[in-house]
Amino acid sequence: MNIAMVGLGLMGRAMAQRMAEFGFTVRGYNRSPLPDQWPAGTTAQQGTPQGTPQGSPQGTHAAVCVAPTLAEAVTPAHLIWVMLADFAACEAVFLAPEHQSLWRNRLVINGSTISPDQSRALALSIQALGGRYLEAPVLGSTPQAQTGTLQILLGGASADIQQAEPLLGALGTPTHFGAVGQGAAVKLAMNQLIGSLTAAFSASLGLVQHEGVDVGLFMETLRASALYAPTFDKKLQKMQDRDFATANFPLKHLLKDLRLFTDAAEAHQIQTEMVRALTKILAQACDQGASDADYSALFAELVPPAGG
Ligand code: NAP
Repeated sequence: MNIAMVGLGLMGRAMAQRMAEFGFTVRGYNRSPLPDQWPAGTTAQQGTPQGTPQGSPQGTHAAVCVAPTLAEAVTPAHLIWVMLADFAACEAVFLAPEHQSLWRNRLVINGSTISPDQSRALALSIQALGGRYLEAPVLGSTPQAQTGTLQILLGGASADIQQAEPLLGALGTPTHFGAVGQGAAVKLAMNQLIGSLTAAFSASLGLVQHEGVDVGLFMETLRASALYAPTFDKKLQKMQDRDFATANFPLKHLLKDLRLFTDAAEAHQIQTEMVRALTKILAQACDQGASDADYSALFAELVPPAGG
């Protein structure tokens, strides 16, 4: 099966690599030049392996072709997976006049995190251009993409999911929530929890540190309580080291997602004051240069260094 991966950012590269390791023929496309190990310029027709994927389950070097144009990635594909930053990026790629004929009779699977309304609008646009649209935002980050353990949150038609089943199985565990918009709603609900849990843990860890309490004992108590979430241990070391440089999920995307959550929730009269406050703090962190840092850099925004 030939797959086009549109958007070779952090997630797109990891997912394309996983697909290739699983035996799919993958042609990727990215708007801008990629890091050195992902050289552009190979034409899809040549089919020359490019990239240096690591960690293939068979120990082989699975390869992803990087096509110089979107058309060259998409034209030979049976399925098109899209992994773009946001709605504006999706619109730019889907609806550019020179791209509109590419989607006819094609199934487009959109893994980008966007809002339910944005996803419904894109579905209508793709359908108007003669294509089919499946929404498939994912829970998990680059390590889960590399190991095929993503949770895939689907909204769309069962027939489209059936067609995509082999690919979905290679990437992780799919769950069908219902119509387009419902997978997107679950994704925003989960990412609101990422932000809120990280902020709540940061403030508690900060107090413990500043009072000179043994953090190990605090964590033992937390782990034994009903208040524990595994994400706390996942981010503890980064917070203790105050080192957020290596990001799987950057702070700028969490900010985008909390803004999307706020808009979607307010449309249902859900009170969002708490999320708005968190959004403001994340925006400040981005303004101060932390856009590409790991989202746990939220800790540094909330908690000054102890003993400082
Ligand atoms: P990323 O590394 O920032 O990559 C974003 C991609 O979007 C790049 O390929 C970028 O191309 C492209 N793009 C941005 N604006 C564009 C435009 N106007 N036209 C065409 N292409 C454009 O992001 P990511 O971490 O891979 O995330 C991709 C999506 O998955 C986001 O919606 C994110 O919220 C979601 N997600 C991320 C994670 C994670 O852990 N990182 C986990 C789950 C879901 P250029 O290289 O040319 O800028």
